[in-house]
Amino acid sequence: MRFAEKLIKWNATQPVRYPWIGETDPYRILLSEFLLQQTRSAQALPYYQLMLATFPTVHHLANAPEDLLMKTWQGLGYYSRARNLHKTAKAIVQTYDGAVPDSYSSLLELPGIGPYSAAAISSFAFGERRAVVDGNVFRVLARHHAISTPVNSPKARKEFTDLAMKLLRQQDPGRFNQAIMNLGAHVCTPKNPVCHDCPVQSTCQALVNRMQSEFPVKKKKSPNRDRFFHYFEIDYRNSVLIEKRDTKDIWAGLYQFPLIERSSNRQMNARALHQQLQALFGLTSFKLEAVTRPRKQVLSHQNIHARFYQITTRQKPRPIDEKITLVIRENLENFAFPRTVSWYIKQDQT
Ligand code: SF4
Repeated sequence: MRFAEKLIKWNATQPVRYPWIGETDPYRILLSEFLLQQTRSAQALPYYQLMLATFPTVHHLANAPEDLLMKTWQGLGYYSRARNLHKTAKAIVQTYDGAVPDSYSSLLELPGIGPYSAAAISSFAFGERRAVVDGNVFRVLARHHAISTPVNSPKARKEFTDLAMKLLRQQDPGRFNQAIMNLGAHVCTPKNPVCHDCPVQSTCQALVNRMQSEFPVKKKKSPNRDRFFHYFEIDYRNSVLIEKRDTKDIWAGLYQFPLIERSSNRQMNARALHQQLQALFGLTSFKLEAVTRPRKQVLSHQNIHARFYQITTRQKPRPIDEKITLVIRENLENFAFPRTVSWYIKQDQT
């Protein structure tokens, strides 16, 4: 039996763990693909359910305000993906009359849809012969064929995609893609693969040579850049200052308390704090209620170290930046915040 047949036969015996497995509705597959680019299946599930409930059709998504989409995406990070999802929904409605395009090449033209998602949607929903190559597939193929090309090198995607296309059968490309992804997710796992349960163990090069932990090969990444954010939660008569982040940096389009970026996470002394609050908000009279310890959030290329200064004042703040506005504290829940700021707000309420 060939590699693809073994995998498909094995996969037919496996439980359906998530609602998008075996799904053929292209809009639902598209939603799940945007989420799964972002996070693991278990974490994606509640987001998928919330999104389907909030935006049951592509028309609902296309016509939704961006802030509502950001709110449903909150906590996932990479907010540019959420914006691309929105643009894609609008393009589908405007250009394709609400029908998700049915070919790999036309899907690739939509914002935020790369080769991986285009292959997934076209093979799962429309039966197009396209190999899906995600992290799970990289791992299975690297081990099974003992491939030493680093999976994060520029030539890896083409090499692994070419191999997956060779292995793919003419029939059932979607079922093959599901099977190899499922194998990578639940059997050929990053640590301690369950080789004795694997349907392709008899031909696996890594297993024969007991080199499962050597594959896939990865090049070392350059270290993340550290950034130090000092946030001011300024309370004036039960309202707080917030602003929308601009589009040229991380978390574009999300909201936050005003912040300054400094060269370290060391707490500002009283003099520096007075200078900043006067310069930025015209405050000469305020009380520093509390300061948090630095909290670290690791992003793909940056480490964010955040401190929050909780401040109350009876003097109306006059921010020099007109994007900064006062909102009633109870209304904070209507805005989408980056994970670090959400964490702080929750702490603040408990
Ligand atoms: Fe992965 Fe083990 Fe199967 Fe090889 S035999 S593909 S290492 S699970």
